Amino acid sequence: RRSVSVFQFDNSYARLPDRFHAAVYPEPVEGPVLLKFNAALADELGMVADLSDPARLAAVLAGNVVPAGAMPLAMAYAGHQFGNFVPRLGDGRAILLGEVLDTAGTRRDVQLKGAGPTPFSRRGDGRAALGPVLREYILSEAMNALGVRATRALAAVATGEPVQRETMQPGAVFVRVAASHVRIGTFQYFAARQDVDGLRTLADYVIERHYPHLKGDANPYSSLLRAVAIAQADLIAAWMGIGFIHGVMNTDNMTLSGETIDFGPCAFLDDYDPMKVFSSIDQGGRYAYRNQPGIGQWNIARLAECLLPLIEADEEKAVVIANEVLAEYGQRFQSQWLDVFRAKIGLQDETDDDGDLVQGLLSAMHAGEADFTLTFRRLCAVADEAAGGEAETVFLSGFKDSAQAGEWLSRWRARLQGEQISATDRAAAMRGVNPAVIPRNHKVEEALAAANYGDLSFFERLLAALEKPYEDLPEFADYTVPPKPEERVLQTFCGT
Ligand code: AMP
Ligand code: MG
Ligand code: MG
Repeated sequence: RRSVSVFQFDNSYARLPDRFHAAVYPEPVEGPVLLKFNAALADELGMVADLSDPARLAAVLAGNVVPAGAMPLAMAYAGHQFGNFVPRLGDGRAILLGEVLDTAGTRRDVQLKGAGPTPFSRRGDGRAALGPVLREYILSEAMNALGVRATRALAAVATGEPVQRETMQPGAVFVRVAASHVRIGTFQYFAARQDVDGLRTLADYVIERHYPHLKGDANPYSSLLRAVAIAQADLIAAWMGIGFIHGVMNTDNMTLSGETIDFGPCAFLDDYDPMKVFSSIDQGGRYAYRNQPGIGQWNIARLAECLLPLIEADEEKAVVIANEVLAEYGQRFQSQWLDVFRAKIGLQDETDDDGDLVQGLLSAMHAGEADFTLTFRRLCAVADEAAGGEAETVFLSGFKDSAQAGEWLSRWRARLQGEQISATDRAAAMRGVNPAVIPRNHKVEEALAAANYGDLSFFERLLAALEKPYEDLPEFADYTVPPKPEERVLQTFCGT
């Protein structure tokens, strides 16, 4: 293997005890071709990427050439999958190349997804198909542009090898960058083995890496639990605000850092329906839009169980503390959710009726089958004009029966009267939180279908449209429109 200096690696996870990971090299692929490279993120990582030699770059990013300083490994973890505990999952098709300190001094993981089998692969092939790789590229970059914390996409590389799924598909490697890949499931792995030393080592690692300000706390482990609970509450409130349905909120897909991870069957609401489920494998609707905050709390409860022996030697006392944190999660989510939706309808001041006002709009949207994203974006224009104007007509046209929405507008206008801000400033603030462009399900599917036929132009154009999601750009107007009935995506598949 040639040794090339591409990243300034500084690997901390590899230094943790052996039982935390398995050393494993990527399995070289037949014909690596760089499909997409995120040069801006590469700069942020201090990466030395020779763009004039794309073949060499592709060889590194596909795992064919392991760069100098890498200590490739697969992480051990467990997890609750749809409520069922699996004591050993681990990185079955992801290999951590190493960590870099980015230009801001933040430690980031560089991981190759689909780079070959690992000791955790079970019956899987360790590979990834092109469609899901491009999907993760689109979704993770879109989330970041929307201002929602998520892992990043550094590159997508075609392998030149087919993978067998329901059908044969082109293979690819996804290069993911994350604040870290430690999940709730990582803690569960050690808890399941009653390995309290391992749990303490992991908790100390996470505090050092993600929450260093907690180090001096009287009880750093209960502080860690609280910090993660708050990060997850904030994250899920942000998801709710953009109509995002993660789809597979298993404990192995919930990070300690508070970044969104794993974009398998995720989707965005078209028309507003709180019970909406897209994922074909979520038969019971466990991860429906409306259930996400409650599942977030359930997941934090699983983390709390792992941390009990670190929080207090006396288990009863530890349980009391953990329950306090779970209650705090609930309060935090409620207040964040209200902040998010208050901003979406343009409220500056807080009053006791705000939650009710927001719910009033949501129930009109549900009854009127109104598109989630477009309704809020159109409301921005309504905020900018006098009652009875053209924007109001456009807004109301999005509801099947607009009577309820019309009544809501009057109620909303009455509430706005009490605020100091000008209509123009309010509308501008609303446009900053209500996106015009999201990765609409049918547009994502369109881009992936074309890519499977070798045409990346739809993928490229969708990515370009998602770069500035809060601006009205005429050239990307087609991405702001809800799907026609025949374009609607009814189900997403956990395509791997
Ligand atoms: P996910 O559904 O993506 O969260 O993955 C759940 C588990 O299945 C993880 O342990 C993955 O590493 C593993 N896995 C998923 N796809 C594959 C694959 N093609 N080969 C090996 N392991 C896989
Ligand atoms: Mg996963
Ligand atoms: Mg996945």
